[in-house]
Amino acid sequence: MPKTNTRTAEVPLTRSEIMKRVKQKDTAAELALRSALHGLGLRYRLHRRIEGVVVDVVFPTAKVAVFVDGCFWHGCPLHATFPKSNQSYWLPKLAENKERDQRQSEKLSTTGWTVIRLWEHECLPTTGNTARRIAQAVSRRLRSKGQIHAH
Ligand SMILES: [Zn+2]
Repeated sequence: MPKTNTRTAEVPLTRSEIMKRVKQKDTAAELALRSALHGLGLRYRLHRRIEGVVVDVVFPTAKVAVFVDGCFWHGCPLHATFPKSNQSYWLPKLAENKERDQRQSEKLSTTGWTVIRLWEHECLPTTGNTARRIAQAVSRRLRSKGQIHAH
């Protein structure tokens, strides 16, 4: 039988392999979301650093920050499975990821950003509703910006 899924393999990944995956950009989920956003006519920036946080998809004028979180690495309640081996390493690592996500969201929120965190599974295979949700958040922010002049 061919090996099709090595993600939860019994052999633990090395630390550098783990870090590489945690920081992975341009994932299939992210690409699918970006193409759906593009299809709605939205323009955005990618992987911008804001307040020390690298944001996956950024709408600078509207101040909307979108993250696409991998189901495994960020602990999605539907799809996260804990590796059976080397749990003393994994469990704190995954908890750390979740805490960091929360810290980053709070940091951006308190500096006036609308933060939208999406699970990988919300972006694949279909992103119609997800993209519309973002489009709504962006247009809401742009409307309120038109009324309140910050500068
Ligand atoms: Zn998921």
